[in-house]
Amino acid sequence: MDKDNIKKEYTNGEVTIVWQSGKCIHSGNCVRSSPAVFKPKEKPWVNPEAASTEEIMTTIDKCPSGALNYYINQKE
Ligand code: SF4
Repeated sequence: MDKDNIKKEYTNGEVTIVWQSGKCIHSGNCVRSSPAVFKPKEKPWVNPEAASTEEIMTTIDKCPSGALNYYINQKE
């Protein structure tokens, strides 16, 4: 995979956050909407345990570039 477009997944067990670095336009919408989850200065920068699944989904829907996506994990 192109090293400039890294795809990463972060899960809280219920929802999985998918982030594609190459699509991110650094609008900061995610950071403003869920600052506990999206912390660009930290590694890993996404902390999926820091908010409810509902909040995470609402925040990801505000990403203007499509860099953030999510899917609901299948129940075992
Ligand atoms: S909202 Fe989307 S485009 Fe904006 S900083 Fe977050 S991931 Fe990047």
